[in-house]
Amino acid sequence: MVIEGGLFMLTCRQATQLLSEKQDRPLLLREQSGLQLHLLACRSCRRYSKQIKTISQLSKAFKSFDG
Ligand SMILES: [Zn+2]
Repeated sequence: MVIEGGLFMLTCRQATQLLSEKQDRPLLLREQSGLQLHLLACRSCRRYSKQIKTISQLSKAFKSFDG
């Protein structure tokens, strides 16, 4: 689905995919904004986004703990 301004409305699958890719690479502006938009509209992906942040913070903390 394309909305005004040429932004794409992501599916939940695409949104979660982007959320995990975001851990490994910077997202394109286009991807960022699509993702933000999806997160505004979708509660379950917002929850997933929180989880993935927590997990990545934890794994960073463990890494620095190991040295
Ligand atoms: Zn979603």
